[in-house]
Amino acid sequence: MIAPAFTPPNRLLLGPGPSPVAPSVLRALALPTVGHLDPELLRAMGECREHLRAIFGTSNAATFAISGTGTSGMEAVLSNLIEPGDGVLVATHGYFGARVDEIAGRCGGVVTRVDGEWGQPSDPQRARDAARGRSIKLVAVVHAETSTGVRQELAPWSALASELGALLCVDAVTSLGCIPIEVDAHRIDGIWSCTQKGLSSTPGLAPVSFSPRAVERVRSRKTPVQSFYFDLGLLLGFWDAPHGYHHTISSNLIYALHEATRLVLEEGLEARFERHRRVSTYFLECARGLGLAPFVAESARLPQLTTLRVPAGVDDLALRKRLLSEHDLEIGGGLGALKGQLWRVGLMGYGATEGNAERCASALRDVLAGERGAAARR
Ligand SMILES: *Cc1c(COP(=O)(O)O)cnc(C)c1O
Repeated sequence: MIAPAFTPPNRLLLGPGPSPVAPSVLRALALPTVGHLDPELLRAMGECREHLRAIFGTSNAATFAISGTGTSGMEAVLSNLIEPGDGVLVATHGYFGARVDEIAGRCGGVVTRVDGEWGQPSDPQRARDAARGRSIKLVAVVHAETSTGVRQELAPWSALASELGALLCVDAVTSLGCIPIEVDAHRIDGIWSCTQKGLSSTPGLAPVSFSPRAVERVRSRKTPVQSFYFDLGLLLGFWDAPHGYHHTISSNLIYALHEATRLVLEEGLEARFERHRRVSTYFLECARGLGLAPFVAESARLPQLTTLRVPAGVDDLALRKRLLSEHDLEIGGGLGALKGQLWRVGLMGYGATEGNAERCASALRDVLAGERGAAARR
């Protein structure tokens, strides 16, 4: 028996990603597929690179998108910039910092990992102390830690990397398009993001940027990059003129990225950042009205991802199941050590509106009343 054509449910995506996709981006996805070397596709790719440079705050020539999700961007940057035996300093304060550590180690890096408290930014001074007496060639930090909702200031890490004579790498998977990223001003050498969070496209591409110093580091490697798919030289051979074949990039995902980044620039970066701040302030007010407390102190809170403590006696999983089945609304639960303790509400990109904040708060009010009633009966 052949299944009937699949129709997905119409969910409101207010979790840590994917975020709601703008209708014009969905329409762009449905345009006719063309070849990966079609001159018109190459023109669109060139325009995507210009858009990404503006959003990343960089003039880096080596700014483009990896075919894959955010993790592929992480792996692409780290596998090019780390050679076996290189000293690497990874500051972690959540689930995704741990992933950076894992991948840096798999690249052959000799990793010094500095674990910070989940719910707070990493402490650059502790990292400085940990690096003392070691040869560190690369420092990596997470800008927006999606597992906790914490924002990391980048200036101190830029200063530390300079002191150590190391490259600075930044995970911007949840920050691109939501909060300012100044790649050039912060002397960031390698940065990766994704298309399905702040940019509000579908998952499938990972915007990246490499500074000229980083490109030089890759060129002067003693060993070839282990990954053929992520080899920067080969990727630039495709993205740069005269555009040789490396892999068959999805033209449809390029159309979507083109439209999504065009929407970001059309709105204006400052206006977009301000919208995220305004909507998150409003949502937190509503959440407090329901008796829900934020997990992160105001000074380190991300506007695009609000983390709330699950109130005592409420069944996290049951509540999120009801949000999905009764309200078609998705929010995230806690990851790793915070499983069952946190809700993660993303009001990101196209989804960052007062209307969505209100829908989320009213759905939460409804299911919380149900859950609290069930808890009282138990
Ligand atoms: C989502 C996320 C990732 C992983 O991205 P995928 O698209 O799921 O591969 C990495 N780092 C951070 C900070 C994230 O939020």
